Amino acid sequence: MPSKRSPYSAPGSVAPTGDSAVRVCILGGGFGGLYCALALHQHLGKISRPVHITLVEPRDRFNFTPLLYELLTQELAPWEIAPAYTDLLKHTAVDLRQDWAEQIDLAQRRVTLRQGSPLTYDYLVVALGSQLRPPLVAGSQAHSLPFNSLGDAERLERRLGDLAHQPTVQVVVAGAGPSGVELACKLSDRLGSRGHVTVVDRRGEILRSYPERVQRAAGRALGKRGIAVYLNAAIDGVDATGLTFGHGGQPHHAPADIVLWTVGTVPRPWLGGDALKPTPFGQYPVRPTLQLLDHNNVFVLGDMAAMPAPGRERAPLTAQAAYQAAPVVAHNLAALIAGRSLKPFVYHHLGDMLTLGQGEAVVCGFGLCITGRLGAFSRRWAYWLRLPTMAHRWRVLKHRLGLR
Ligand SMILES: Cc1cc2nc3c(=O)[nH]c(=O)nc-3n(C[C@H](O)[C@H](O)[C@H](O)COP(=O)(O)OP(=O)(O)OC[C@H]3O[C@@H](n4cnc5c(N)ncnc54)[C@H](O)[C@@H]3O)c2cc1C
Repeated sequence: MPSKRSPYSAPGSVAPTGDSAVRVCILGGGFGGLYCALALHQHLGKISRPVHITLVEPRDRFNFTPLLYELLTQELAPWEIAPAYTDLLKHTAVDLRQDWAEQIDLAQRRVTLRQGSPLTYDYLVVALGSQLRPPLVAGSQAHSLPFNSLGDAERLERRLGDLAHQPTVQVVVAGAGPSGVELACKLSDRLGSRGHVTVVDRRGEILRSYPERVQRAAGRALGKRGIAVYLNAAIDGVDATGLTFGHGGQPHHAPADIVLWTVGTVPRPWLGGDALKPTPFGQYPVRPTLQLLDHNNVFVLGDMAAMPAPGRERAPLTAQAAYQAAPVVAHNLAALIAGRSLKPFVYHHLGDMLTLGQGEAVVCGFGLCITGRLGAFSRRWAYWLRLPTMAHRWRVLKHRLGLR
């Protein structure tokens, strides 16, 4: 839905000369795109030329994904973790286009939208995140629920509502990565003695790629709740009755009222015909400044970008990495516009945080690991500090403290 009229509205308009506004177009309003737009707005006072920022995002609310699980236990309300873009951008110069970007034409510097008129840009930022991997397991799409967005959390809530009068509710979670473990613990606490929760994963350990201390804390949390965990289990199919898998050479069937699918997201592909070659992992190579190779005026960040990270192959696909990259892209955009020098992105791994049930979490970083209620408090505090905009953080804090 087009909002304010912007310089982009004129198809075919050309790069600015003299005093005409510099057009920055940001695709995707997640951890990379939204935070970049907000940070760029902060730079505007230091740039002598007028700059017009347009953010293209199909959703009406930002999704703070790490806190989505808290909706299931009603520890947080939807407005706290999914504030409306119109509120977040109210006092900024960012022009929101609630629309899907469909095609990027790098040569013409043009983005085609699903509904609105095309946008021409001088600088482009691409941060479209990840999407579900095309289904490889029979029935997984038809008979399981994903858990990646506020919309998914609302769908799960409706399903739980439908089952409210059942004496027992059987939940099977496919995947023992962070999403699978966090969901299993929260749902177990939500359902209490009515719930039977099972986690199935084809790998031999939970939370592969996480430090051992995090794995141990998660193992204890799952065990304490009586959550059945099947590892080295190959999922064969999902149907309306549950999930079938092979384990220990035997076929198994885990009956389920709800199957949650937490395996397999992949970076979104580039939009359009420009022959950009992704890495084997599906990300796009970028320079240390996060500019696209061969395109000085295009930045890619977040899950879609193979962002450099010291001591690692690349930065992880996390909110933490996208959140750190966003101000660097904003700085470099401002620097390009003002003719100053750019800076490289350096990823700093600040640690790992996982919720392990209602009022329980593990937080590990800088050689320390905190669990239980203190872990939950630390995690909540760390995320509160990273909510977008001071005004939204303040609204959430006042609400939590019971202030008007
Ligand atoms: C349930 C869940 C829990 C998570 N927990 C954690 C955690 O605890 N810690 C952590 O660090 N990371 C976590 N992550 C990962 C984290 O959310 C991502 O790594 C991060 O959001 C990536 O940022 P991004 O900007 O690349 O993409 P996103 O934040 O996903 O933003 C992409 C945006 O692009 C929009 N978009 C998509 N297609 C188009 C299009 N064609 N045109 C315009 N807009 C488009 C989407 O609507 C979305 O708003 C979690 C993810 C999920 C799903």
